[in-house]
Amino acid sequence: MGKLSKDKRDIFYRRAKELGYRARSAFKLLQLDTEFDLLSTATRAVDLCAAPGSWSQVLASRLSHNSTPTQTPKVVSVDLQAMAPIPGCEVIQGDITSVKTASSIISNFSGAKAQIVICDGAPDVTGLHDIDEYIQGQLLLAAVNITTHVLEKNGTFVAKIFRGRDVNLLYDQLRILFKKVSIAKPTSSRNSSIEAFVVCQGFKGGDFNDLPLEGGFNGGGSGGLREHSMKPTDRDRFAVPFIACGDLDGAEGETPAEGFLDADRSYDVDEGAEGLKAVQPPIKPPYETALNK
Ligand code: SAM
Repeated sequence: MGKLSKDKRDIFYRRAKELGYRARSAFKLLQLDTEFDLLSTATRAVDLCAAPGSWSQVLASRLSHNSTPTQTPKVVSVDLQAMAPIPGCEVIQGDITSVKTASSIISNFSGAKAQIVICDGAPDVTGLHDIDEYIQGQLLLAAVNITTHVLEKNGTFVAKIFRGRDVNLLYDQLRILFKKVSIAKPTSSRNSSIEAFVVCQGFKGGDFNDLPLEGGFNGGGSGGLREHSMKPTDRDRFAVPFIACGDLDGAEGETPAEGFLDADRSYDVDEGAEGLKAVQPPIKPPYETALNK
């Protein structure tokens, strides 16, 4: 399938290129921000699993509006893959499930902590749902662990989740660390995708090791950094608000002639139009070795 047909197939993919974002995911964060007001005051942020970098682009741009003479914005962006530089972001290449990477991120916040941590992490999907959910669960665990070290009290944590079997336990666990937990599905995320985003507000502080991990975080009991025999009590169980978010504002107020942006629809592009170039081609893709053989 050529570039142009993907442009037609996915309006957010095309729109991202028109607006200079490295990935269509930018709209997910923009729509979450519109719904939850995540970034209007933040000056320090961590973007976990950040490549190719569209969420970091949004952070760098939004946080630059909040800078003051005494507060220079700080964005730390982390990914397994090499990531092309983004002005205003410090890039760390590493695996967020490794202690080395976690320590390197944490060392950046020995002074003032971050007000927001976001994680759009996703493994290379195998198509085997249990395995994909398990690995996604491990990423989430690692992200929560790092978050408890770098997030300031009352801070916000946003992460991609796959809505699987154990999702209710996940909500319960996050509620132990945060005052408010919501699940959101931006309209830029396709209906056909099981992804959603957990938006956790009002960090209470606390230690990751105090979390009851048994059977939780989609990853099963063996996945936790430390096993815990306790499960959230019935008292901790509650209904999590599920919020569908995003409208025309999700494309930064630019209304396309077609009207409402639908992630699941194919759009026509002008006859003779050419596919738009990638904003930032991958700088060291894993398939490079195979191509060079
Ligand atoms: N939010 C990004 C953006 O807007 O450009 C897109 C993120 S992409 C959906 C998921 C990323 O998770 C990939 O770049 C992948 O390399 C990263 N990832 C997966 N597992 C990881 C791990 N263990 N540590 C760090 N990054 C990881």
